[in-house]
Amino acid sequence: MTVILVTGGAGFLGSHLCDRLVEGGDEVICVDNFFTGREENIAHLVEHPRFDLVRHDIVSPLFLEAEQVYNLACPASPVAYQFNSIKTIKTSTVGMVNMLGLAKKCQARILQASTSEVYGDPQVHPQTEDYWGHVNPLGPRSCYDEGKRVAESLCMNYHTVHGLEIRIVRIFNTYGPRMDPHDGRVISNFIRQALAGEPLTIYGDGQQTRSFCYVADLIDGLIRMMDGQETGPINLGNPAEVTIGEAAETIRRLTGSESEIVHVELPEDDPKRRCPDITRATSQLGWQPTTDLETGLARTVEAFRAAAGGQE
Ligand code: NAD
Ligand code: UDP
Repeated sequence: MTVILVTGGAGFLGSHLCDRLVEGGDEVICVDNFFTGREENIAHLVEHPRFDLVRHDIVSPLFLEAEQVYNLACPASPVAYQFNSIKTIKTSTVGMVNMLGLAKKCQARILQASTSEVYGDPQVHPQTEDYWGHVNPLGPRSCYDEGKRVAESLCMNYHTVHGLEIRIVRIFNTYGPRMDPHDGRVISNFIRQALAGEPLTIYGDGQQTRSFCYVADLIDGLIRMMDGQETGPINLGNPAEVTIGEAAETIRRLTGSESEIVHVELPEDDPKRRCPDITRATSQLGWQPTTDLETGLARTVEAFRAAAGGQE
């Protein structure tokens, strides 16, 4: 049994990770300030003898014992991370220093949930880990992008200077059950809108692309990375690239919705193309996603329907 700290454990990815770790026999300490996390994501875990919840903001120092740290604390939706941009930067910088300090003190291995946003609006396609990116350092997304870039740098420097065991994964758009229907991300927006019979809001012409990974695949990649020998960075994502217009059509079909599709203004600095090169993940971790978009979306739609039904 390993004692594992999961920051951001009440969020979308964090709660699925807590589930998998508890199921695997580990002891999980979930730390969350509930900015975007939700109690309902972990309600089924709170009575479990190997699960502890600590309400804490990682921008303040934290002292507890753990053997592994998964640092997932940070809002991930553009709407959420731009809501309080300075807080977002503090979470990825001051919060990262605090978690690295904790890991150093406990001699724990620490995994940082980095992001495809470190590549910005990429000019190289698909994105390999050695691409340095194309980030606007002053734009509306910079609080997230630059914060995550500093976090990677902090990890690498703690590794070089203090010999800390670090793991850096760059996560590409991931979706699935327990996404907050109101978090503003594209899959959650489209499914919520389709089920409510509201128009699906495509930003811009819908020709921009993303590559969507199903949550169970991603969690498998995170655990392989933590338990493996590679420092990273390693891309984790599903290389099946689709346009946002195609994603809207697929969700409309899967929900049987008659919602119309409307086009609204494209947000500033919205990346035009995004697709991971996962050669490293495949060769170094033996990892690749196994859930195709149709299957993953169908499961997500069912979960959204069930959650909406429970609220009636
Ligand atoms: P999420 O918003 O659902 O979860 C983030 C969690 O962190 C929430 O529970 C939130 O309350 C918590 N949190 C935020 N700031 C905190 C702070 N200062 N102290 C303590 N807790 C704090 O987002 P998610 O999709 O689950 O993303 C989890 C991590 O993965 C994030 O670090 C995100 O940047 C990264 N990531 C996610 C994706 C994706 O597509 N889901 C893609 C790239 C990277
Ligand atoms: N998007 C959209 N409609 C929405 C929400 C998002 O067309 O209701 C677009 C957004 O402009 C971007 C893509 O979908 O091009 C993915 O957006 P999301 O916020 O999910 O994540 P991003 O990958 O941009 O961080």
